[in-house]
Amino acid sequence: MKKQFAVIGLGRFGGSICQTLAEIGHEVLAIDIQEERINDFASIATQAIRCDTTDEQALRELGVRNFDHVIVAIGENIQASILTTLILKDLEVPYITVKAQNDYHEKVLSKIGATKVIHPERDMGVRFAHNLISENVLEFIELSQDHSLVEIIASEKMVGKTLLDLDIRAKYGCNIMAIKSEDHLNISPRAEDIIKKGDLLVVIGSNRDISKLEENET
Ligand code: ATP
Repeated sequence: MKKQFAVIGLGRFGGSICQTLAEIGHEVLAIDIQEERINDFASIATQAIRCDTTDEQALRELGVRNFDHVIVAIGENIQASILTTLILKDLEVPYITVKAQNDYHEKVLSKIGATKVIHPERDMGVRFAHNLISENVLEFIELSQDHSLVEIIASEKMVGKTLLDLDIRAKYGCNIMAIKSEDHLNISPRAEDIIKKGDLLVVIGSNRDISKLEENET
């Protein structure tokens, strides 16, 4: 069964979530305090409704409690974002994702029970910085403050070698979790597996170890 989503706050971020979900074919209720934004999304979302989501009664009347997943993409007005999240929590919405504006905002949102807190500008910055250091880093996902998962294009130095030859774990303390080839995803690579040109390596490790690997091997 397809999930039902509601997106609160139709700025660039919330708007793009709303549009993408609709394009994939999900039901999306688009909510914003500004009439103008509602008009923009009327033909994109399943339904677009003007509402100040800090008004508990108004939010309750929209029936958001029946949605599987509500995304709060109010950025600037931190107070409104927190209050909206609290009300959604009270309404027992099962999954609430909230966009945080800064670290304090993020802390408060986690404390009051947001299921997931996202920080797109910061995450994009981290990803982009890694891509600046090495163009071979395609994907960068923070797992915790100190650990990440990265997707690296096999460098010329690596091609033709086995994982044993590369000895990444001993040299850098990182683990190669998977090797993505053109037509195959090897999710349990073995020491004798040979790296081919164009392969992508999925590596997990501490940020410091990953940086050393990026600097020396890519
Ligand atoms: P983005 O950074 O995603 O482009 P933005 O800078 O356009 O966003 P924000 O202030 O982050 O704007 O707010 C995002 C949206 O949230 C806006 O369209 C705004 O009208 C809406 N919004 C703000 N407060 C409320 C509220 N109390 N209820 C509903 N929507 C709200």
